Amino acid sequence: MYDDRAAGIAGSAESIQILARRASIVFAAFSGLTAWYLQTAAWQFAVGLALAYTLYSFSLCRRKAPPGVGELFLSVALCAGLTLAQAGYSDILYHLLLLRMALRVGRRRAVRVALIIAAVQLGAAAAVTAGFTPAAVTGMIFNLLGAAVVTYAAIYIDALITRQASDDKQMLELIRQNDRNYRMALTDALTGLYNHRAYKERIDTLSQYVLLVIDIDHFKKLNDAHGHLIGDNVLVSLGNIIKASVRSGDLAFRYGGEEFVVVLPGTTAQVGLKIAERLRNKVVEWQFEGDKGRIPVTVSIGLAVKKPGMNSQVVFEQADRALYRAKQLGRNNVQSYLKPEVAVKYGM
Ligand code: GH3
Ligand code: MG
Ligand code: MG
Repeated sequence: MYDDRAAGIAGSAESIQILARRASIVFAAFSGLTAWYLQTAAWQFAVGLALAYTLYSFSLCRRKAPPGVGELFLSVALCAGLTLAQAGYSDILYHLLLLRMALRVGRRRAVRVALIIAAVQLGAAAAVTAGFTPAAVTGMIFNLLGAAVVTYAAIYIDALITRQASDDKQMLELIRQNDRNYRMALTDALTGLYNHRAYKERIDTLSQYVLLVIDIDHFKKLNDAHGHLIGDNVLVSLGNIIKASVRSGDLAFRYGGEEFVVVLPGTTAQVGLKIAERLRNKVVEWQFEGDKGRIPVTVSIGLAVKKPGMNSQVVFEQADRALYRAKQLGRNNVQSYLKPEVAVKYGM
């Protein structure tokens, strides 16, 4: 959304440039028509130049070409031609040209563009004036003031657009950073699964699910025998096995230490038992390689079912009790809190 907004802001400078170019088509046509209608001194010349200006600007509009150096020099030359041909109502063409060019080059180079255009305008005016009469001088001052106002407006608009774009960029970065922090706060750094805090945040938003509490068997012994680093690797591998075993929509958490929790929303106890059993089997089959060869790893799993209206904490305690029973029954097995008879027992 903020990317769109940034593009929109950059686009607003462009739309002013296009507007200035379209307006200059109208004014060039008007200048040519009045020269023809009033039959001014060099009216054929003026009409030819006005026509050229109109067609050139029209074709640029059609092609949606951004204002460039070519347009600057060709347009300023045509403007000077119109002044020299003494076409009336052509002064505004310099200002419209200045507006779109200044917006195009940005505020740092706007004054340079203004000086080029004003110099041509004054030079052409001086060339056709019959001497520096008060009327000619006031006309030049009037045009210079116009150029100054247009330059100031272009610089101001450019500054506004740049500031707005930078504010939006900062805001976007802030939102992204915030999002990253939020995700990090809910992620377990070791396994990449959701963490305990995420469990607390998510669990009460779900009304019906099967809960699996998974605990590594004799993990303390494993740590003692192989070291904590290998212990950590086992935790990472188990995290990966869990991730690969659950479906999208299921939620996997590292609850703490060597305990994991899997939440299976909208699942029956039977399906939950199958998933738990499959997971337990995968761990048995997994080859955990340590320094001293293969490390046998098993998990015990407790299962409970959350029905609408039940307290999530009660469900967790039930799954934990089922897990306790799994440990009591010799570990490496799945026990359901509700139906101990359907639970599968595997002796170690
Ligand atoms: P049980 O089969 O009854 O679950 O026995 P256990 O040894 O797995 O259980 P216990 O709760 O006695 O020990 C858990 C061990 O897990 C103790 C601790 O050293 C280890 N542990 C907890 N967190 C981490 C961790 O982040 N990394 C490693 N390497 N070990 C951890
Ligand atoms: Mg354990
Ligand atoms: Mg434990």
